[in-house]
Amino acid sequence: MSLRIGIMGGLFNPVHYGHLRAATEARDLLALDRVHFLPCAVPPHREAPGVSAELRARMVEAALQGAQGLVLDARELALPAPSYTVRTLEDMHREMPQASFVLLLGEDAFRGLPRWHQWQRIPELAHVAVLRRPGAENAPYPDALREWAAKAETAPGTLFESQAGGLTHCKVTALDISSTRIRELLQAGRDPRYLLPDAVLDIIARENLYRGKTT
Ligand code: ATP
Ligand code: MG
Repeated sequence: MSLRIGIMGGLFNPVHYGHLRAATEARDLLALDRVHFLPCAVPPHREAPGVSAELRARMVEAALQGAQGLVLDARELALPAPSYTVRTLEDMHREMPQASFVLLLGEDAFRGLPRWHQWQRIPELAHVAVLRRPGAENAPYPDALREWAAKAETAPGTLFESQAGGLTHCKVTALDISSTRIRELLQAGRDPRYLLPDAVLDIIARENLYRGKTT
């Protein structure tokens, strides 16, 4: 059986237990060998003050200490911003020609897929697994996604019977946590503890993040 790699991309500004738990359950549901966490690069003018891609990656690294099969993958930081998923997937195929890939996307991110650069090429390069996320379940899918779902939808257990192009839904534990909410709490001087790992909070405190202007 070829290596199965999950790809959890995001801004991770900051990473929290919603990301970590969803990735952990997807790893087990889809029998993945590894889940790569890929912080995306954004153009410098869009970065929160003081929260560089490097810092976001450091927080992910701290969050993943001791995790099984969940690893930081900082490749998008080395590529020119903005990060394009098709380009990243091509890079991963070059590096791991024997592997199959599945893009892990929360319900909200999945609905935005038709706005991504060259999104129609994604099914040539990977499967997609949609992760349950509170607040996003009831919004309708755009037509383009409904058409794709009608032909590609399969159960989590059969996704890897093909090399790419499959679509599945993972009913992960619903955790209503977002980075936006954590940034708002910090800005208001409130305590976000237990929404994210203490190791991440330590970096936030040490670097004095999210106290300034919101982004
Ligand atoms: P922000 O509020 O800044 O948008 P976020 O919490 O949505 O942050 P992102 O970095 O935007 O985090 O998300 C990265 C990926 O993780 C996306 O695919 C998103 O849908 C998914 N995700 C984020 N939070 C959760 C959650 N609580 N449960 C399931 N998936 C999640
Ligand atoms: Mg988001």
